[in-house]
Amino acid sequence: MTEPVQQFASDNYAGICPEAWAAMAEANQGHHPAYGDDVWTQRASDAFRTLFGTGCEVFFAFNGTAANSLALAALCQSYHSVICSDAAHVETDECGAPEFFSNGSKLLVAASADGKLTPDLIRGFAAGRRDIHFPKPRVVTISQPTETGRLYSLEEIRAISATCRELGLVLHMDGARFANAVAALGCSPAEMSWQAGVDVLCFGGTKNGMAVGEAILFFRRDLAEDFDYRCKQAGQLASKMRFLAAPWVRMLESGGWLANGRHANDAARRFAALVAGAPGVELMFPVEANAVFLRLPSATQDRLRARGWRFYTFIGGGARFMFAWDATEEGVAALVEEITRG
Ligand SMILES: *Cc1c(COP(=O)(O)O)cnc(C)c1O
Repeated sequence: MTEPVQQFASDNYAGICPEAWAAMAEANQGHHPAYGDDVWTQRASDAFRTLFGTGCEVFFAFNGTAANSLALAALCQSYHSVICSDAAHVETDECGAPEFFSNGSKLLVAASADGKLTPDLIRGFAAGRRDIHFPKPRVVTISQPTETGRLYSLEEIRAISATCRELGLVLHMDGARFANAVAALGCSPAEMSWQAGVDVLCFGGTKNGMAVGEAILFFRRDLAEDFDYRCKQAGQLASKMRFLAAPWVRMLESGGWLANGRHANDAARRFAALVAGAPGVELMFPVEANAVFLRLPSATQDRLRARGWRFYTFIGGGARFMFAWDATEEGVAALVEEITRG
């Protein structure tokens, strides 16, 4: 039996895209200042400010868990709380890192039908208890797209940020797949972030095709005070920072970030169309970005696994298939063939 050539268990199974790889090779010439005092880190930060059309503060971390949890920690005192959905990565997949790095800020987890927060859910926490016995709500965090591949529309984000403003809350966006969301909504990065009232954004590079690295953007610059120290203390200040930064320069300046997001979304949509309607196969959620969740007969799941296919079933309650920047027609077709065999 041959292993499948491509796997769709996670978008992180993919390798490094050509732009990011070339940028690392280019940065690998000669000696350069360490700890972010290099030309690539400056250029990457400027490229973010150009792309978003605003003078945000930019930082880099190795992964999304660190980016999210350090950003949330920067926004909270230990007695504060963070409102999130029950499906949020910060709640289900970061091993308590947001609470750890914030010295105990509590996550207030809202039961949500589709993994999305709403103004009403936020209000339920933030306006419900205001007494001194309850951890004071301070931040709202939303994942765009969500962990099950759903999107907040611009109107939904604006409604959430209006609620945050009214209640004195800061709005954080977990954009581990920010590129997929921008590609899917066809809006600008600015429209989906600061113009919609997002104060702090974690912009994912890894799932977008880089080896490593997420950017943390503070649109409210006052909230970024001492964030560089926080990154350093948490072991997230890369000494050879240029290898985190250089791929961003190339990805942002070439538009590769958006092309990769679009490619992944297209593959997910194509896959969903090809398996929908096959016997026993049920699409669990609308396919809005690069994730497809299927309810599959257990015999089909067993056969897929026996034939070397990998997929998770602990997220969203079904079989999850994620499509990356490099998903090929043949790779997708092979999975379709295996699933639709019955
Ligand atoms: C992948 C992901 C992250 C980051 O995860 P790391 O493994 O820590 O890089 C954050 N949020 C969401 C929604 C994700 O899917």
